Amino acid sequence: MAPKILIMGPQGAGKGTQSQRIVEAYGVKHITTGGALRANKQRDISDLDLEYDTPGAYMEAGELVPDVVVDAIVEAALDEVDGFVLDGYPRNIDQAEALDEMTDIDVVLVLEVSRETSVKRLTGRRVDPETGENYHTEFDMPDDEAVRERLVQREDDTQEAVETRLDVFEEETAPAIDHYSDHEGYTTIDGEQSPDAVWADIDAAVERKVEGS
Ligand code: AMP
Repeated sequence: MAPKILIMGPQGAGKGTQSQRIVEAYGVKHITTGGALRANKQRDISDLDLEYDTPGAYMEAGELVPDVVVDAIVEAALDEVDGFVLDGYPRNIDQAEALDEMTDIDVVLVLEVSRETSVKRLTGRRVDPETGENYHTEFDMPDDEAVRERLVQREDDTQEAVETRLDVFEEETAPAIDHYSDHEGYTTIDGEQSPDAVWADIDAAVERKVEGS
């Protein structure tokens, strides 16, 4: 059985990094609403008569893109896959309820990190625009000088946008995580550990579920 996995937690908890490992180990598809929205930043959504006319305007402000846009992206993506790791969705209670209508989830992984850790990881994050690979100014810079020189900071990784995104997480996404607290596949993981130690905990949780089914 290809598992259906949610990976939740604040920005900078390591969801993207660990999702890649889940994809490699379990052969599931990575569905990331942040990634999908970044690819559709300039899409004209003015016909929906919302606060802003593009997803990118919400993202730069550190605000959530409206549910009507994001739910449709997830529903279309889920239609095309069997097993998946869903990263960055649901981000509020309404999205969690929308997801309940779309599919059944096997494992809910919740990566826990302090606000201080999130801020440090995000404000130091740099992205290689050519490969999409993430680096960190303090913990993980590329050896190749050409790569080092072309690294950029995401517009929403500035101190101000990061603080807003973490406020949104605490107000809106933490309750969406609570929505799953009685789910049989609900597992909390200490995201302050090294990436390898986090992965060991995730692998054990997913393995338990895959074997038990
Ligand atoms: P991320 O890369 O997951 O941090 O997402 C970057 C930005 O995309 C967020 O700050 C939001 O503006 C938007 N976004 C991503 N996922 C969602 C979602 N599930 N609901 C609303 N907005 C989202």
